[in-house]
Amino acid sequence: MKIAGAGPAGLAAAITLAHAGRAVEVHEAHDRVGYRFGHDLQGLENWSTQGGVLDAMQAQGLSTDFDMMPGREGTAFDAWGNAYHLHSEQPFFYLLVRGPDAGSLDDALLRQARSLGVEVRFNSRLTQIDGAGILATGPRGAEVIAVGYHFRTDMDDGFWVICDDTLAPKGYAYLLVMSGYGTLKTCMFCGFNRQKEYLRRTVDAFHHLVDLRMENPVPHGGAGHLGPSGLWLTGQHPVTGEQAGIQDFLWGFGIRSAIDSGVLAAQCLMNGEDYAERARSQFLPRMQTSEVNRRLFSLLGNQGYRWYLRHASRQADTRDFLRRQYQPSRLKRLLRPLLAYPVQNRSNPCNSPDCTCVWCRCG
Ligand SMILES: Cc1cc2nc3c(=O)[nH]c(=O)nc-3n(C[C@H](O)[C@H](O)[C@H](O)COP(=O)(O)OP(=O)(O)OC[C@H]3O[C@@H](n4cnc5c(N)ncnc54)[C@H](O)[C@@H]3O)c2cc1C
Repeated sequence: MKIAGAGPAGLAAAITLAHAGRAVEVHEAHDRVGYRFGHDLQGLENWSTQGGVLDAMQAQGLSTDFDMMPGREGTAFDAWGNAYHLHSEQPFFYLLVRGPDAGSLDDALLRQARSLGVEVRFNSRLTQIDGAGILATGPRGAEVIAVGYHFRTDMDDGFWVICDDTLAPKGYAYLLVMSGYGTLKTCMFCGFNRQKEYLRRTVDAFHHLVDLRMENPVPHGGAGHLGPSGLWLTGQHPVTGEQAGIQDFLWGFGIRSAIDSGVLAAQCLMNGEDYAERARSQFLPRMQTSEVNRRLFSLLGNQGYRWYLRHASRQADTRDFLRRQYQPSRLKRLLRPLLAYPVQNRSNPCNSPDCTCVWCRCG
């Protein structure tokens, strides 16, 4: 069995197959896992289900042997610099490292896959799969981008968010710190052409609000694909993770569903089940709910973000608050056709002679 892509989706599929004694080859286009992330700090969301994500991964037979920090409390700011405290009893996410370094999520999954006998071939870009296989090749569009820096820092561990259209249009800027490493990003859903300006403002804002301290900042950015209805199969092959457009439209927390879709694809192949049907029923209602959440959030603007953050910080438990928002509901189903989803077209180049965009074709 061949799998294209050694991201969370591809490795989760490979581990599931290998547990069942199947011979698996994972082909990775780059020379290491997590190539596109460097040493990015990211959040593994823990709010969308009542049960915890780590328990779910262990039940799926996946390693949770990676460096992580539970995110129970943090601070969000509105455009006027007002601070809102977010807190929950159980972590609403786990901060982790992406990329090839020891201790990262990608490294933990790679080590587990290899220990189960999975053959991982680097520098091997698959252009077609003969016979049984799974596509797990990451985003095929750029409807959201995050640009910023990785850096060393002497700041205490923690996370901070700013909702302000003048520095992260329709999205949010964030600062994550864990064990002496930091990631600062502006995550934007439109206005990609002005990414440098937004990033400059984000850095200034964090300097002002939380005394940001970056040592040797390394520029980093990436894109995310929000597929409106999901692409479940190409030919007979299951499509998983961001290649299928399986994402969290509201905040871009795609790791968990990438893993879940990889596991599901492997199980369907082994059991002769219809992946498209299973994936549609498992992921589509949540994706459509998050699509409506995204559309509503995009309409808020700075005054609306202030209202939203005030409301969120008054909740007894941020994790419960987020979980309620992510549940499909009749109201959100009714709202869906009424709100147009603003898709940014990746094929428009920025035409800058010194393009460093993470999203356009000339970069
Ligand atoms: C800057 C940034 C910050 C993010 N922050 C978060 C966060 O905090 N929380 C969260 O949950 N999500 C976050 N995401 C999203 C998350 O990283 C993705 O949703 C997740 O990595 C998707 O996993 P995947 O396995 O589908 O794809 P990927 O992780 O992209 O893996 C796909 C792999 O396939 C390889 N590949 C591509 N084409 C081929 C081919 N033809 N043959 C062989 N190999 C191929 C690629 O090199 C890559 O290694 C972030 C994304 C970005 C860009």
